[in-house]
Amino acid sequence: MQIETKCIHSGYEPKNGESRMIPIIQSTTFKYDSSEAMGKLFDLEASGYFYSRLQNPTCDMVAAKIAALEGGSAAMLTGSGQAASFLSVFNLANAGDHVLVSSTIYGGTFNLFNVTMRKMGIDFTFVDPDCSDAELEAAFKPNTKAVFGETIANPALIVFDIERFAKAAHAHGVPLIVDNTFATPVNCRPFEFGADIVIHSTTKYLDGHDATVGGVIVDHGEFDWMAHKDKFPGLCTPDESYHGITYAEKFGKGGAFITKATAQLMRDLGTVQSPMNAYFLNLGLESLPLRVARHCENAQKIAEFLEKSDKVAWVNYPGLSGNKYYERAKKYLPNGTCGVISFGVKGGRKSAEKFMSELKLGMIATHVADARTCCLHPASSTHRQLTDEELTAAGVPSDLIRLSVGIENVNDLLEDISNALSKI
Ligand code: PLP
Repeated sequence: MQIETKCIHSGYEPKNGESRMIPIIQSTTFKYDSSEAMGKLFDLEASGYFYSRLQNPTCDMVAAKIAALEGGSAAMLTGSGQAASFLSVFNLANAGDHVLVSSTIYGGTFNLFNVTMRKMGIDFTFVDPDCSDAELEAAFKPNTKAVFGETIANPALIVFDIERFAKAAHAHGVPLIVDNTFATPVNCRPFEFGADIVIHSTTKYLDGHDATVGGVIVDHGEFDWMAHKDKFPGLCTPDESYHGITYAEKFGKGGAFITKATAQLMRDLGTVQSPMNAYFLNLGLESLPLRVARHCENAQKIAEFLEKSDKVAWVNYPGLSGNKYYERAKKYLPNGTCGVISFGVKGGRKSAEKFMSELKLGMIATHVADARTCCLHPASSTHRQLTDEELTAAGVPSDLIRLSVGIENVNDLLEDISNALSKI
């Protein structure tokens, strides 16, 4: 099946007389006839459901769909993208371990790693995604347990060289985790370039309607944990907190990672997605290829328009032929990149604020990547505590506007943008 068909059909196949749409199993618990039957579920001897903090049928159907879209062996939904990033790393790294991370990742993920997870005793090294081979090599440590990057970085829009980082990770016997939120599996499937684990903030394009916060972790199922037994005791030695199960032995390459994340981490941390939210996410997934194509088509036209405007100082969009990442984007994202553009208006902070206030369709919002066009001026919102000099040092100059292009008619958007630019 091609991806358009998988978006409609994967994950749920109704039997005779069953509902055509995925059912919303909005239930905390599941009933069994005997303690023995339930015991088999607890022992992971039989598959089934007993408590929705661990697994829920609606969530599993949607996770299975996303696994199919990414070409993975197994997946789990999480309550947010942050939870997906956290669990994907924490499933591999414990206190005393180290993780190598591309420095141009989403600010929330950076903070999660650099502040919160450091407090848990995990060490992180952030490397420039375009660093030299020698710099990359030097960033690995004997206790490195994973490498992490974003296909298209939010908001820097840097295209990550997945193949290069996958090779480096594998040479050190560790997996590559890729946040594929901005690209979506429609535009890039990181597993095809060597990534081992993919995560998403499903809050963005996968839902796409500004309706639900959520995340997902997908395992490619190809990383051989047992070949690196010493590095991954959590997967390769008995889990005393789960009846002494050795995940990599019992569930093999295809099932170990997600089973451990579910049976151990989700059990203890409980960052689940609700069945109702999973239902909404599934609705979004059905039209994902149509929406993503429109987001990219609109963003391309708007980026080209902005580039020609004499009110605009600079435009950053990897779909523009003059962009530093244009060639790399053609390799990893041949069908389009994403709907997010960043650009600067002439006149700095004041002009940026004026432009934003003059937009009628483009809403001011901290969100990105959904059906409605929205924009953010970090210097007057998320980064307002910084001076102009500090903003430049942080890579977020005071004139920077992040525009998330929606799926409205592009001519309406161009008229709105052109009108707002004429007022500055
Ligand atoms: N990853 C990326 C690339 C994001 O843009 C975001 C949020 O903006 C996240 C992860 C975190 O996702 P969530 O907001 O769903 O927790």
